[in-house]
Amino acid sequence: TSFGFKQVQEDEKSKLVGGVFSSVASSYDLMNDMMSAGLHRLWKDRLVSKLHPFPGMKHLDVAGGTGDVAFRVLESITSVSDRALQEGLSGIEDETKIFVCDINPNMLNVGKKRAVEKGLGEDCSLHWVEGDAEALSFADGSMDGYTIAFGIRNVTHIEKVLSEAYRVLKRGGRFLCLELSHVELPVFKQIYDYYSFSIIPAMGEFLAGDRDSYQYLVESIRRFPNQETFARMILDAGFQKVEYENLVGGVVAIHSGLKL
Ligand code: SAM
Repeated sequence: TSFGFKQVQEDEKSKLVGGVFSSVASSYDLMNDMMSAGLHRLWKDRLVSKLHPFPGMKHLDVAGGTGDVAFRVLESITSVSDRALQEGLSGIEDETKIFVCDINPNMLNVGKKRAVEKGLGEDCSLHWVEGDAEALSFADGSMDGYTIAFGIRNVTHIEKVLSEAYRVLKRGGRFLCLELSHVELPVFKQIYDYYSFSIIPAMGEFLAGDRDSYQYLVESIRRFPNQETFARMILDAGFQKVEYENLVGGVVAIHSGLKL
């Protein structure tokens, strides 16, 4: 490719990805909405509904800099604890902890800023942690849930991310991954290929002045393992009850697994 990513050495890849996201962070929300026609909001809603968040839960959202997933988890827990309060049960919501882990401080800053805008700046359930998905700083068996949305595609070693997810989860904890995936439906695939190879880089150039970053994102989708292969990798990491759901014909997929 003109961007020459395939030649990049593995150890340089994370630096490169960091650079891509630094330049993308400021226009991130706009681009997400433009590229997915707003659908990424519904996909994230779906991801969180599969998590079944509960008051008192310890949750880790990895590659979650913008806070998009964490805010939804918190909202879902708040609605559950409001119901509990109405029914005369209370107390445990104080122990809810939602950790947002991201390798890029610029992305975390986008998320923190958005927390303030949402009136969640003082919310003591939210914790912003700079860190690498491949080597998490959290203790073994410390989390009830783990989510990663549009994050695993960009890491250097997917296996390390999965084994870290497995390590930090408690027994019974759920792993959920939302990721751009593979479209196989014949005619839809042609339309999607045209959209991603021609329109997305052009949109990146026009809206964010950054064609190369968006070209890279499109290429990274093609290189990412397909739904079945990725499900196999999750199983190999030790998870059970592994399944996936395709959304919009496989444009995105939600994979899930349990640590039993
Ligand atoms: N989860 C958010 C969402 O869905 O809107 C952000 C997704 S964004 C496309 C990908 C994020 O992954 C970026 O914030 C980037 O900094 C982060 N990232 C990339 N490599 C990472 C790694 N090894 N560990 C943690 N975060 C990483």
